[in-house]
Formats: sequence, structure tokens, C-alpha cells
Amino acid sequence: MAATRFLSNARGPAAHDSMSAPADIDSIRAAFTADLEAVTSEQDLQTVRDRYLGRKQGAVVALMKSMAGAAPEDRPALGKAANLLKQEIDAALTAQRETLASTARPAGAVDVTLPGRPLLFGQRHPLTSIRESVETIFEAMGFEILQGPQVEDDYHNFEALNMPPDHPARDMQDTFYLEREMPGGTGVEGSPPATLLRTHTSGMQIRYMEIHEPPVRIIAPGLVYRRDTPDLTHSPMFQQVEGLLVGEGVTMADLKGTLVSFLQRFFDADTQVMFRPSFFPYTEPSAEVFISCVFCKGDGCAVCKETGWLEILGCGMVHPALFEKVGYDPERYTGWAFGIGIDRVALLKYQVEDIRLFYDNDLRLLEQFPH
Ligand SMILES: [Zn+2]
Repeated sequence: MAATRFLSNARGPAAHDSMSAPADIDSIRAAFTADLEAVTSEQDLQTVRDRYLGRKQGAVVALMKSMAGAAPEDRPALGKAANLLKQEIDAALTAQRETLASTARPAGAVDVTLPGRPLLFGQRHPLTSIRESVETIFEAMGFEILQGPQVEDDYHNFEALNMPPDHPARDMQDTFYLEREMPGGTGVEGSPPATLLRTHTSGMQIRYMEIHEPPVRIIAPGLVYRRDTPDLTHSPMFQQVEGLLVGEGVTMADLKGTLVSFLQRFFDADTQVMFRPSFFPYTEPSAEVFISCVFCKGDGCAVCKETGWLEILGCGMVHPALFEKVGYDPERYTGWAFGIGIDRVALLKYQVEDIRLFYDNDLRLLEQFPH
């Protein structure tokens, strides 16, 4: 504090010893006037009072004591001048104390003249916004939203989805294993691990069908994990939404109609949708779904690698083997399923180049997204 610094540069009483008394009176008055101007608090005021009127070290008291050495004929005039100075200083200090008291605020009181602090509002993470948009659209179409365990067992993540232990499709999904043995411990060398971090939310299809009879209309959003080396488009943790619809007489046309309707509501009403044959162990037939590039509208650009199309999700008709696992009659019921990556959609929708940015929690990036 400037005032404190100034006051600590003390012109102490010792400095006055060598001066003549009248010169001391003027210099003490000048020094006091300067010190008083710098006073901003009660504490400053006390420091100044001690410096000039203090009994032991006060400059005025020291001045009076020094008069013993003055010529006898000068003493009355000097004494009178010194007394006047003392009264003057005392009055000035009292006046200053009153001024301070009249402007002082009680401790803890709010100073309404200070500028306000800006309020920081939180907002949805872009991945959460996208997931909620997907949920809203499917909810409006009558789908139920399910949450399930991220630590999944081998049966629900692979085996019941038509991927037995030796199935080559397991290699497509590098898995974080948590336990190395089957439940119940067969102890057989090479037997599949019992628990893992789910590689997709597809296991929720099985979990739901095990305890519900058709008709089924669900989506299962959530985090999934794969042993991918992080790069621009891969993260070891990402978000997926799985969808499943089962009933009597459900066809690929229902799948197509539902997904086209979803994609056109989610992106743009004029979004073109293309289905291309593909392979997944748990659907037959299977398809990859592409949308017309949201950036170039199909003309070709760097994002779509000049093709005009962007791959957006995978889907297909539920493989009859899944129905057999959960006790549904595959002759009576048919269904379809799809899986969409939230992070991939977010990369496309927001034109973010690096998926890792979504997990860095850098507010400079996150604050840019609508919520
Ligand atoms: Zn494009």
C-alpha cells in the first residue's frame, strides 16, 4: 500500500536534533502535513499520532525537550510556538479521524460501488448435447432410453451377439479385459476372459430382450472402450448409441425409414442417405449408412475425401442367433439394430478435427459450442 510504504520511510525525531528550534517547527509541520495526506485508515492515523505526539518518540515532544538547550530569552516564544504546533497537530488528527469514521464501512459490508464479478455459467459438453439430441428424436418416435453397465461380461458383449470365443470379429474390437477367467472358473487355458470394459453398447440388446417380450423399441447410449491408440479420429473411450426394434413383420424397410427420418431430423431435411452392404456378426443382412456430406452438400471436399458421402452408422436386421439366445421365436419375430458413434457425429457436425479435444476439457474449445 502506497500510504504504508510512505509512512514507514520515517523522518524520525532524531533527524530534528541538529536543527534549530524554529526551523524544526516548520519542518515538523511540513512533514506532518504530508503524512496526514497519506492517511487512509485508522491504523495510519495512529502511526502518525505516535510519530508526532508520542510521549517517548514523538517529534513534538522531542522538540519541547530540546528547548532546554535554547537561550533563556528565547524559551517562552519557542514554547508557545511548540504548544501551538501540538494543538494544531492534535486538532488535525481529530478532524481526520472523524472524516475516516464518516466514510468507513462496517467490517464485511458490501461496497456497492465496486464493479460486479462476471458470473460464469456452465453449459452442456458438446458430446452430451449430441447424445441428448439423438435421444430426443428417438424418444419422439416411441423408443425407450436404457442405461447399462460399462463393465460387461464376455457373454453379453460377445457371445450372445453371435461372437463365440474363436470368432474372428472379436479381433475387430481390441478389448480391455478385466478378468482372465470365465465365471465359475473352468480354469481352462485360453478360455475367454469373464469381464471386460464393453466395446459397444450392443450388449444392451441382449440384456433388454432377456427380460422383456416383444415388441421392443429401445436405444442404449453410453461410454464404450477399445484399445485404440489415440489419434485424430480414435480415442480409447468414446460414446455410442445402440438402437433395437423387434416385433412381428418388421422389415428392412422399417429400418431404412426410421434411420432416414432420424438423420434428416438430426442433420438437415434435405440430407441424402445411402445404404451399402456390410458385415456385422449380430445382424444379417448388414449395412453401412452414409449421408451426403454436410459440408459440401455432396459436391466433394476434403472432409468427405471428395466422395460427397460421409459414413455415419452401422445397422442391419437382427441375426436369428440372437433371438435364440434370449428365447424369442425367430420364425415369429424380426427386428433391426443400429449403432452410431456420438463422437464421430460431433466431429462432423462441429467440424472439429481431433477427437481428443473433446476429452481434454479445455474451456476455450468447449465454450464455442451451442448448448
Ligand atoms: Zn464433402
